Amino acid sequence: ERVGWAVVGLGHLSLDELLPAFGQMKRGKLVALVSGDRAKAQAVAKQYGVPDKALYDYKSFDQIKDNPEVQVVYIVLPNSMHAEFTVRAAQAGKHVFCEKPMANTSAECQQMIDACKKADRKLGIAYRLQYEPHHRAVIQMARNKELGTLKLFTANNGQNQGEPNQWRHKKSLAGGGALPDVGIYCLSAARYFSGEEPVEVQGFSHSTPGDPRFKEVEESFAFHLRFPSGFQAHCTSHYSTHETKDLRLMGTDGWASMDPGFSYSGLRLRVGMKSKSFPKADDTVERSFSQPSQFAREMDHFSRCVQENVVPHTPGEEGLADVRIIEALYRSAQEGKAVKLEAAKKLDAFR
Ligand code: NAD
Repeated sequence: ERVGWAVVGLGHLSLDELLPAFGQMKRGKLVALVSGDRAKAQAVAKQYGVPDKALYDYKSFDQIKDNPEVQVVYIVLPNSMHAEFTVRAAQAGKHVFCEKPMANTSAECQQMIDACKKADRKLGIAYRLQYEPHHRAVIQMARNKELGTLKLFTANNGQNQGEPNQWRHKKSLAGGGALPDVGIYCLSAARYFSGEEPVEVQGFSHSTPGDPRFKEVEESFAFHLRFPSGFQAHCTSHYSTHETKDLRLMGTDGWASMDPGFSYSGLRLRVGMKSKSFPKADDTVERSFSQPSQFAREMDHFSRCVQENVVPHTPGEEGLADVRIIEALYRSAQEGKAVKLEAAKKLDAFR
């Protein structure tokens, strides 16, 4: 029996990526929609075969507890609304899958974790790339020490953001600018490739004066992370450059490089290493894998977690870890100095 999903918020991500991805899923099905716009919800419901009685708005949302078809609630709202709807979904007895960034503060993340624990429901954060075959291959190479001892990671994730009036440019809704929206992919990759948690971070924020898009949130955020083993990560995120989405993981015996590395599709992975498995020393090869929908993969994974009662690969704790580091990075940028982090628990058990 497929797991029933309710999608909350019918914006770009839901309409363009998530709802179509249900067609590629093996374990989940769309059974309910939650939207502030009744006419839009009805049109979308018709397209995807969702019955009228399974349409909710943000006020009537709590009635979802009486709909036994819904097992998972997927929160796809502006960042500031993730905590409220996660808590309400857990209280309605539903498992929760929530978009990144998990929330705007670590305190909210903790409330979300606590609410799901109290209701004995699963909480997963939608880190699509941790389910993506090229990223999984690099994680595997790193764990198998194929690149030798890991030394450095560099990554850039940016795009040229339009529409100054959208919620992404309002601090109260978005929490911040480029860092929590796109920089989070670099940050999270540095953590899951290395399998370590940073102990010291430094960040630099910039907004062009007079640009209406960046009155409240930063235009670009560059940051550096130092890890216990000596591994370091240097990343940039931006809202005003032409789309740039590359990464490179470097070890003593090899490197893995992706460009693009953070896109929804079309990822390209190249590997260079001094190894017997290569035709000659210092050779470079491209490694490619099939690229099914990243969204179908992550939702199928979470459906399996519900069916088989297992902990999701990217649980609430993973979202909290990133938000905690983002808070430290903002503090660093504000104070103009590096910030030390208390040694965090390694989350490798989940990987
Ligand atoms: P969007 O602006 O396209 O959609 C947001 C939806 O929330 C809209 O339907 C809007 O009507 C609704 N909404 C409810 N209350 C609102 C309010 N007060 N202000 C503005 N909108 C309100 O945004 P999106 O791009 O779909 O992003 C939604 C979430 O998904 C965000 O948390 C974002 O970070 C995340 N996201 C993740 C990925 C990914 O690759 N995983 C990609 C895009 C977005």
